[in-house]
Amino acid sequence: MKIAVIGTGYVGLVSGVCFADLGNEVICVDKVASKIAMLRQGEVPIYEPGLRELIQKNVAAGRLSFDDELSGAVRQSDIVILAVGTPSLPSGEANLAYIEQAAQEIALAMNGYKIVMTKSTVPVGTNERIQQIIGQFSGYPFDVVSVPEFLREGSAIQDTLYPDRIIVGTDSVRAGETVVGLHRPLTDNIIVTDIRSAEMIKYASNAFLATKISFINEIANICEKLGADVTKVAEGMGYDKRIGSSFLQAGIGYGGSCFPKDTGALIQIAGNVNYEFKLLKAVVEVNKDQRFNVIAKLKESLGDLKGKTIGIWGLAFKPNTDDVRDAPSIEIVETLLAKGASIRLYDPVAMSTFKAVVNDPSLVWCDDPYETAEHCDALCLLTEWDEFRQVDLVQTEALMKQPILIDGRNVFSGEQIAITNFCYYSVGRPSMR
Ligand code: NAD
Repeated sequence: MKIAVIGTGYVGLVSGVCFADLGNEVICVDKVASKIAMLRQGEVPIYEPGLRELIQKNVAAGRLSFDDELSGAVRQSDIVILAVGTPSLPSGEANLAYIEQAAQEIALAMNGYKIVMTKSTVPVGTNERIQQIIGQFSGYPFDVVSVPEFLREGSAIQDTLYPDRIIVGTDSVRAGETVVGLHRPLTDNIIVTDIRSAEMIKYASNAFLATKISFINEIANICEKLGADVTKVAEGMGYDKRIGSSFLQAGIGYGGSCFPKDTGALIQIAGNVNYEFKLLKAVVEVNKDQRFNVIAKLKESLGDLKGKTIGIWGLAFKPNTDDVRDAPSIEIVETLLAKGASIRLYDPVAMSTFKAVVNDPSLVWCDDPYETAEHCDALCLLTEWDEFRQVDLVQTEALMKQPILIDGRNVFSGEQIAITNFCYYSVGRPSMR
């Protein structure tokens, strides 16, 4: 099929490349000309494992191209995929300005029947709004299909090529069959539903996963007070098939471009129909507090943080991505700066994206985990990159002023810590020394 993908962010670029890899002809469009220029030169504007190679392969095969002009791409395509951002407004509601703008641009470019497939996460009723906009600005026939995206940054290609399920929300049999056919090579597990249910499936899924994280974090906080070990508790719970073991890793809470924004949006969506989503409000509240446990543990071990040197291992909201949107690291670093601490930072790939958000001149940017540890009063691990798992803790400790380690992701085992002199705090496990 001929496909135009509007928006070359984490979702659009990965989806476009994967559809090209399946043999479709794909044009990826972005209004940011510098992104398109990079992509045309073989550079990738985001970090995602395996993406560069897959782009090169499909460009070379003549199935994938890039354009900063939407109209030509839409005219050449049968299917137009909407993958623009839907960030939060200050109220928590989703900002639909990019969606509405893109829908209008698509409508004005149309030259015949098109299927507009929405992958962006949009509140219930938004695809009907897209239908209205396209109908208002175009005289050509079209169908809008909601196909919410579930990929995870860091494993986006794998998730796209081997999805757990595909949701196809449509009120058109013709468009539904085409979109099901497009996804058939990926999975047999394709659920066809009405558009509103498809939109809701995405929010309900993210809200449920966020709930699991906040739930285990609260259990972790209680474990700390009772002397139990949350990793054992989660393991014991996870073997129950009704519960499952995923998303039961206690830590400093979720971040990223999806969970914070989508939970906020669902609270608003419910509020708009006079329903107070009490459970989800609590989930968000717990998550907001959880990251500050790092600060509390630093204060417990160091007292006043003014003039203390703190090393930060990991800035991305999770490993294998350069994304720092709503990452706990942002608020933790800002709080430490406000308390007068000196900060040394390191992340394998997210330093430049972090710098774009927090760029205090006093921050010391380091080249590796050991340089970060030099002369520190304490180290805080905020992202569970594999690189940190490989670190020699004895060597690290020798570089520090005081051997204090706050492990915000429960990366290290008791055995690893036992051979060091670290005063070790993790999440929901007894502290050591
Ligand atoms: P992103 O911000 O990384 O990328 C969006 C891109 O769209 C940007 O490059 C922007 O320049 C471009 N754009 C905006 N308006 C445009 C227009 N009119 N024409 C051409 N390009 C335009 O966003 P993302 O992380 O890829 O997310 C996209 C959507 O998918 C969001 O709704 C998000 O909630 C959802 N989603 C994201 C993920 C994820 O892990 N990032 C996972 C599932 C769903």
